[in-house]
Amino acid sequence: MINLISDTVTKPTPEMLNFMMKAEVGDDVFGQDPSVNELELYVADMFGKDNALFCPSGTMTNQIAIKCHTQPLDEVICDHYSHIYQYETGGYAFNSGVAVNLIHGTNGKITAEQVEAAIKPVYDWLPISKLVVLENSCNKGGGSYYKLDEIAPITQLCKERGLKLHLDGARLFNVLVETEESTVDVGKHFDSISICMSKGLGAPVGSLLIGDKDFITQARRFRKVMGGGMRQAGYLAAACLFALKEQRGRLKIDNDKASEIGRLLEQQPYVELVRPVKTNIVIFDLADGYKADPFLEKLKSRGILAIAIGPETIRFVTHLNYTDEMHVEVLNILKSMV
Ligand SMILES: *Cc1c(COP(=O)(O)O)cnc(C)c1O
Repeated sequence: MINLISDTVTKPTPEMLNFMMKAEVGDDVFGQDPSVNELELYVADMFGKDNALFCPSGTMTNQIAIKCHTQPLDEVICDHYSHIYQYETGGYAFNSGVAVNLIHGTNGKITAEQVEAAIKPVYDWLPISKLVVLENSCNKGGGSYYKLDEIAPITQLCKERGLKLHLDGARLFNVLVETEESTVDVGKHFDSISICMSKGLGAPVGSLLIGDKDFITQARRFRKVMGGGMRQAGYLAAACLFALKEQRGRLKIDNDKASEIGRLLEQQPYVELVRPVKTNIVIFDLADGYKADPFLEKLKSRGILAIAIGPETIRFVTHLNYTDEMHVEVLNILKSMV
């Protein structure tokens, strides 16, 4: 089976496993795991921030960020496609007691004008706009991305209006291989950043929340109360270090394969629309008369696994374990799917 369900399906390579086995570990709840400490400082430095926090998932890093930046009865401004709104079980309400103020952006991207129009005036009967969350790349937006010059006006606006700005950068590195922007420059635009190690980078587990000293001190407390304090987590941190150092540069390969799939789909009679393919995600709507579930069954019978993200909408995600040979096969199968 060729698994294009997500870039989370990757398995550690023998080299990664070997590196993990050799990790020096300690108890990270006491701050004494050398591998976790190394990873946290490595990514903090990468983004020009003071510190970082290793967490089990990107949902946790996002939820902790929302918790740190808000008080109950505040609101978070984000696009309606955002992971924090769509796929985190409504955790913003459960963990932080906040509302969301949704913007209908373009393929998951929002503008400073839209944010400005969304900021609420201060009345007793309204939630207080406190935090803006951007997602880069935008998962449900088909892997679309912001360049920093599109983000800069939002950063500026948040500064002027006293709002915090968080980046859900689960797949940020798939973006940076395209834009060739630096992580330090990304860091300058946000109060906090979440990055995932278990997506395209191919580590088995882990996400990092990055920010300044006081923010991370507070985030550590919230990680603990959410049950995310891990003990000899250094084995996992080692996998993340390996992924960042050895498997980051190759992300361009995944993006290029996705783009090839997108171009081929655009010419197929069973496809209505392919969202612009910018990174490693391909999202397309099926033409009239096709439905996602039977289409997925047919793909499966031919050896390809994918998912539906709507009744007529299919998603493919390319990744580390999707080889050149698999790619040739997928292109051939997609040509003959009618
Ligand atoms: C995957 C993902 C996350 C985090 O997901 P976890 O499965 O909790 O690690 C956050 N944001 C985006 C955009 C994602 O795609």
